[in-house]
Formats: sequence, C-alpha cells, structure tokens
Amino acid sequence: MHRTISTETTQKVGETVKLNGWVNNRRNMGKIVFLDVRDRWGMVQVVCVPSELDETSQVSLNEVRPEFVLEVEGMVQARGEKQINPNSATGTVEVLAKRILVLSKAETPPFEIDNEERQANEELRLKYRYLDLRHERMKNNMLMRSKTLHFVRNYLHEKDFVEVQTPILSKSTPEGARDYLVPSRKFPGKFFALPQSPQQYKQMLMVAGMERYFQIAPCFRDEDARADRSPGEFYQIDMEMSFVKQDDILELAEKMFTQMIKELWPEKHFTFEPWPRLKYADVKKEYGTDKPDLRKNKDDKNELAFAWIVDFPLFTEQTEEDFFQGAGDKWAPSHHMFTAPKEEDIPLLDTDPGKARSYQHDLVLNGWEVGGGSIRIHDANLQRKIFDLIGFTEKDKESFTHLLKAFEFGVPPHGGIAPGFDRLFSILQGEKNIREVIAFPLLADAHDPLMDAPSEVKEEQLEELGIEVKKN
Ligand code: ASP
Repeated sequence: MHRTISTETTQKVGETVKLNGWVNNRRNMGKIVFLDVRDRWGMVQVVCVPSELDETSQVSLNEVRPEFVLEVEGMVQARGEKQINPNSATGTVEVLAKRILVLSKAETPPFEIDNEERQANEELRLKYRYLDLRHERMKNNMLMRSKTLHFVRNYLHEKDFVEVQTPILSKSTPEGARDYLVPSRKFPGKFFALPQSPQQYKQMLMVAGMERYFQIAPCFRDEDARADRSPGEFYQIDMEMSFVKQDDILELAEKMFTQMIKELWPEKHFTFEPWPRLKYADVKKEYGTDKPDLRKNKDDKNELAFAWIVDFPLFTEQTEEDFFQGAGDKWAPSHHMFTAPKEEDIPLLDTDPGKARSYQHDLVLNGWEVGGGSIRIHDANLQRKIFDLIGFTEKDKESFTHLLKAFEFGVPPHGGIAPGFDRLFSILQGEKNIREVIAFPLLADAHDPLMDAPSEVKEEQLEELGIEVKKN
C-alpha cells in the first residue's frame, strides 16, 4: 500500500490508508486512544479502539508516546457534524486504526514540540535544532525559505541569467570584514580564505562574457555579533550584469521582489510603488541615518517600506577597522573598492576625493539595509587610482593583479547588486531574530552548540598543516 500523507486523507473517506509520521500527542479516553499523527504536511487524528486492533498493535499502542514514529493502517471516516474541527485542515475526517507499528521510539524531548508559547532558550533550541525545526513555525520558515529561493531562481532564469557557483576555497577579499582562513596542506604557511562575497569572481565572469550572472551565494565574514547580522555565514542573492546602467539594476531587483512578495506574501502591502530613490545626503540630513524606516504605520506588521538610497560618497574617513585591512592613508571605500565614481565627479579624485559621489545603491526596508551594489570600475587605471587613494602599498596592489589583468582583455561595463537573503526573508516572515530563518545557525557568539563547532582537531592534523597552536 502506498503511503497517504496527512492532508490527503480528506479526499479518501471510506478508503483504507497507510499513514507515516510522528505522534504529536496522545489522549486517553477510557479504552479509546486518540493520536494526532503529524507529518511535514500537517496532522490527522487517529482513533484507536482496542477491538479493531490485532494483538501486536494493541501492545504497540500501549507504549506509544509523543514523538514516536509510527506506521498506521486504518480506515478514513467522516466525522459527525459535532466532531468536525474547523481549526484543522483534516478536521472533517479521522482514521480508525486497524494496525499500528512503531517504527522508532522517542525519548521525552528537552522542550515541548506542540507548544510554541513555552519556548526554550536559544542555546538549548540550537543544541536540539532537529527538534526545534519540528515546531510548526520553524517548519514553515524552512518551507517558505525554499519556496522563496525557488521563486528567485525561476525568475532570474526566465530573465536569462546564468547561475554560476564560484569557489568557497578562495583568496582573502576586502569586503570590510575579517576573513575566515583555511590552512593549506600542500602549501604550508599559506591559507585560503572563505569568500566574504563572490565580488571579484562575478566581475571576472563579466569579462568572461556571461553578461547576466546570479548565485545564491554563501558569504563568510568573521564579524562580532550584531543584531542585524548572522555571525559567520549568510546568503546573498548575488547578481551581476554587463552593459547596464544603474537604473537597469534597480528596476530588475524591484520588479523581482515586488512580484515575489505579491505571490508569496499576498497579505503584505507596499508603502510606496514604485520604490522611492533617495539621495544619501538628503536622507542623512532628514533622518540622521542612511537606512530610514519609512513606514506610515510602524504597528502594521504587513507594511513594507522599500526605498533605494543612491548617490553615496565614494569614500569615507578611515577608521581603526579599516587599518586592519592594511590600508594606511586617508580614505576608505564607503562600500567597496570596486565601486565606480560618477563620471562627472572623477576630476574630484585629484582635488577633493571626499566630495566624489559613487554609483552605489543600497536597498532599505523598514529601517534595515537589505542589500547593496553598484556600477563597477572597469578601467584598470581608474582602479589603480582608487587603490592609491585608499593607501594601498605595492604589495596590496599585487594581490589584485588578476582583476586588473582581466580588465586588459576586453571588459564590458558592468554592475550588480547582492541583496542579503536571510535578512530580507526574516523581515518578510515577521521574524525579529535572523537565526529563526536559518536551519542550523551559529549562536550570536559564533559557536554551534549542536555539532560543537568550532572544535579542537587532532595533533596529527595540525602536524600535517605545519600548525602549532599557541597556548593561551
Ligand atoms: N559584493 C557586495 C557586498 O557583498 C555587493 C555588491 O556590490 O554586489 O556587499
């Protein structure tokens, strides 16, 4: 017999079915036992009457407790008028059990699965994430995440984008955060870096003639915990296009997200359509921040105030953190060093660089920055000039030889954007904590209580890598 999933039972009244799933709860009513059997799609009530069950099934039934995994064969019956449960998708039916088989037993979970109100602390939830993901809300976050990514992939494929997977073992890239380093065994003393973003690869893909690239790209940044970031790793919807103006990039992203939200979150509404394009200087002056919350009613959980921020300054004053990157002069790129200055401001690079504006664009939503991008520099000399202005040494510059070299072989003008998927998605799902939309996130202090990572490694492994760990 084929398996019937819980929600299909409403269409099978009078039929014998086989169910598989977890016991959500058990209610004893004298001799009769009610079990709610849960699967990924929902839940259905199973009625167990001893006289209907064979002997082994009766023994099984006696030991069944919440979270046991069962196979149940039984007959789907319509419920009487008074027994109908309007709050359940399968509330019009129940399954009269004929055979019950315990596929696996379960310990009492460390927190309740069918009660979201009494939530355990985050460390415990992450330690038992596989149980936490059984919660209805968490499961829905995972299902919606999958649907959303599916939408994005389809949309961009339809617009003739090509999905390219760029390396994870890569070279340190300057996106403004600390790198995660991976020691090389073949080249002792040398390190790969996990990419902070595929920025240089996607630019080189434009040189390669891909014209329209996207990737649901994992990005790794070793940053101290901040409320709006997931520590360690996150995903960007990374895009790059050739022969485009800034307008084309904004229009593409705006159309894609508008359609995505209308299809997947029909209850949401936009404060502005189309999304306003605001100048950085004006926004800073008016709101004191470059990510203003422009909602008309901040209590309305369905209001979405998207806005574009443009005309950013190309540079900002350097801070301590920028020095960490090895830059040593006066200017730090306000986004990243591949962002193009506005043509009319290029002369300012020689006279007053702080005044030069760039082709950077940020997308903000309800007070959060949910993505950024720019038109890129595609002229090797201009790129060198920017390197000089941010105080790169000859050695620093050498580490970008590959990109400047690529620009010598016919580089198309190009630009792109990389909306941060986890942040955007968590706002759409109404989750305050970004980790609620990530299957297996790190805790805020960047450790994983489930796998117990990071962890120490064997002496032999270190030996092979030529690494010695300093005590203390
Ligand atoms: N790579 C940039 C970032 O991670 C985004 C972009 O410029 O496309 O912020």
